[in-house]
Parts: sequence; C-alpha cells; structure tokens
Amino acid sequence: MALMITDECINCDVCEPECPNDAISMGEDYYEIDPQRCTECVGHFDEPQCVQICPVACIPVHPDFQEDKPTLMQRYVRLQADKGL
Ligand code: SF4
Ligand code: SF4
Repeated sequence: MALMITDECINCDVCEPECPNDAISMGEDYYEIDPQRCTECVGHFDEPQCVQICPVACIPVHPDFQEDKPTLMQRYVRLQADKGL
C-alpha cells in the first residue's frame, strides 16, 4: 500500500529525510507522498518510517493504492534500478 498525508499535517519537516525512497515532498499547503515512490518502506525497513516518526499520526493508507507486498517489492526493485543500484 502506498501511504498518504492528510491535512492534519503540521509541516514539522521530520518525515521527509526519513523516507528511503524520496517519496515525501512539500506540497502546496502541507507535505505529500508520491504513491509511485512509496513502498510502505518494503525493501528497506519493517515499518513505515514516516508513520513511526510523525508526531500527529496523519499518515494513513492511501485508499486508491491498497497494494499487496509483492507489488510493493516490485516498486522497490524498480526504484533501486532507477538509482543504478
Ligand atoms: S512509508 Fe516509507 S516509503 Fe512510504 S512515504 Fe513513508 S517513509 Fe517513504
Ligand atoms: S511528520 Fe507528520 S506532521 Fe510532520 S511533516 Fe511529516 S506528515 Fe506532516
């Protein structure tokens, strides 16, 4: 599943550097997650790093991207290939 950031985000900036896939960036009003880059941290960590660190718990599963683990692993492999790894 890709995750998403809701409008409860307080723009505290702590999640962006924690994302191993560079999926988090500042949006128009608050931070957002690129669902094409979010693997729910599959391939990197056991738990979603942004969810672990967010102080206001505003990062639920994106309702349009309820993907299974093999799909997320494929995305991880693609993102690593894009990095030349
Ligand atoms: S779950 Fe992991 S990959 Fe997805 S946005 Fe959060 S830190 Fe990045
Ligand atoms: S950690 Fe949570 S509150 Fe802070 S910028 Fe990220 S989503 Fe927003």
